[in-house]
Order: sequence, then C-alpha cells, then structure tokens
Amino acid sequence: MNPAEIDEARAQAQALIAACSEPNALKDLERRYLGKSGVLAGWLAGIPALPPAERPQLGQAVNRLKRELGELIVARSAALEKEAFERDAAAGTFDPTLPPPGVERGHLHPLTQLTREVEDLFVSMGYQVADGPEIETDWNNFEALNIPPDHPARDSQDTFYLDGPGPLVLRTHTSPVQIRALTRLAPPLRVIAPGKVFRHEATDASHEHTFHQLEGLVVDKHVSVAHLIHSMKTLLRGIFRKDVEVRLRPGFFPFVEPGFELDARCPFCTSGCSVCKQTRWIELLPCGLVHPNVLKAGGVDPDEWSGFAFGLGLSRLVMLRYGINDVRLLLGGDLRFLEQF
Ligand SMILES: [Zn+2]
Repeated sequence: MNPAEIDEARAQAQALIAACSEPNALKDLERRYLGKSGVLAGWLAGIPALPPAERPQLGQAVNRLKRELGELIVARSAALEKEAFERDAAAGTFDPTLPPPGVERGHLHPLTQLTREVEDLFVSMGYQVADGPEIETDWNNFEALNIPPDHPARDSQDTFYLDGPGPLVLRTHTSPVQIRALTRLAPPLRVIAPGKVFRHEATDASHEHTFHQLEGLVVDKHVSVAHLIHSMKTLLRGIFRKDVEVRLRPGFFPFVEPGFELDARCPFCTSGCSVCKQTRWIELLPCGLVHPNVLKAGGVDPDEWSGFAFGLGLSRLVMLRYGINDVRLLLGGDLRFLEQF
C-alpha cells in the first residue's frame, strides 16, 4: 500500500458509489470497501508491517478514506431512498393513507398473570380480594400474629426496619392483612390478599429479598380442616388443570393452631423428578386453623368463631408452573427472560 494506491481506490470507489442505482448493490460496495474483510481493513491490518516512519501518515490516510467513503455511502443510500419514494408517488402506487406499521406491545409479567388467575379462582369460591400496605407496623406484622419481640420466629423472618412514629417494618409476609381484615370486616369472611413481601436475605437461586405471596383467611362458624383442604384442592385444580392430591404434615407457625405444611402431589411426574427431588411430593404452603390469640387481636371472639389461614408463595407457584429454577429471574427485569411468557 502507498499513497498513490489509496488515491486510486478513492477515485474508483467514488465513481462506483455515484453510479450505484440499487440499494443491494450499494450494500455490496460497502462490504467490499468498509467490511470486516474489506479493502480498507486489509490495509489497516498491514500497517504494523510497514517501516515505522510511514505508519502514521498511511494510517491517517486510510482512516480519512474510510470516513469519506462512509459518508458517501450514507448520502447515496438516502438519495436512492428518496428516488424510490418519488418514483412510487409518481406511479400512484404509494398510498399515504395506509396505517403505519404496528407498535410493539408488551405483556403482563408472569407473576401478574398467575396472580390474576388465582384471584379469579378464589373469587369464584366467594372470597374477596384485600390489599395491605408493604410498610407495616411491627404490631400487625409480628405481635398481633402471636410473634412477640423475643419469639424465635423473628430470626427466620429478618426484615428491613424503618424509622417512623412507631416501629415500622417492610412486611415479611402477607399475614398482617389477616389482622387488617379481621379488624375492618365482621365475620363471617373469606379474604385473600396477594402482594409483595420482603426479607433481609442473602440472595441465591431460591432466596430473594423481595417476593410474592398470597394470604388466605376464612372466618366462620364451625370451620374445619376439611374446608381448608377443599379450597386448596380447588386452587390446585385451577392452576394445574387437573386434580392434584394433597397431604398435610404437622408444622409450627405461631399464628395457627393446629398448623400444617400442605404438600401437593408432584404434577410433573409419575415416578419422581428433579422438581419434587424424587419424593413425588412438593412442599406447597403453610396453613392451619387460626390461633385464638390472632382472632382476639383482630377483635373476634374465638369462642364463637373459628377459621383457617394459609400463605401461598406466588413466586414459588410461578416457578413450579414454568419450571423456573432461579427466583432472582422473576424480578431481574431481563427482557430475554420475560419475553418467554
Ligand atoms: Zn416430580
């Protein structure tokens, strides 16, 4: 390569671009001169092999040519586009009244989709949908739920504490809505409360500082565990679109007595899989009959009324349904993940 060669290439390229009358041919020219393996790239790659004294001058000359040809191609491309537009307009084939191409539309987050489905299912069973604040009083989040300040259950639900008029926390579960519902609505009542909850958590594939739960509460006369099982089976049939067997194991939660862990038959296999860790059962939710102390805290007489409550992990349910193996994906905001739903 030498200055004369560069000038020759400039003259040749200018003539070719000016004579080009077709967008695809222009693209070919662009590739030939400016592409990754084009003429100019080849020259630039050869510069280190030149005598040191010639390198700066030739390098600058090639880069200048690169810029010039780039500008020429952009200008020629715009000119071709304008010509095509004018040709179509003159021929009467261009219809300016046609609507523009559609705008790309988003869609609901998989968590929102599932929450709405679950809400519909419970509404069909006579539940109403309640809402509660994400910033809660310590009383509603812990004490009224039978979790006094020195209770060990507080350790497993460490959260973010806020300065406020009284002790305030980011709620660790949707259970405080139980207290709000009890104090605002008179029994009999059936309420669900979906929403965001928070934990002070070292995050990993199965732990996240922010996730979604759905709280359920029924208070009526003569409420039994059988009613609880019926509601859960109806829910699972709606979500997985087939009958799902459930089982109860004793579990301790301060706000219910007796308390249970409800497991569902793995809907994905018949003889064990990675979702159920080969056990054929999936731990689904904590539940139980509402503790008399909780009813009292909500101003309801436990001698007259009884109820059941459950806490459904909505994030977990979304993960189960779609086979998602990392909870952090749900709120990570990565469109490559979200566009799959
Ligand atoms: Zn399984």
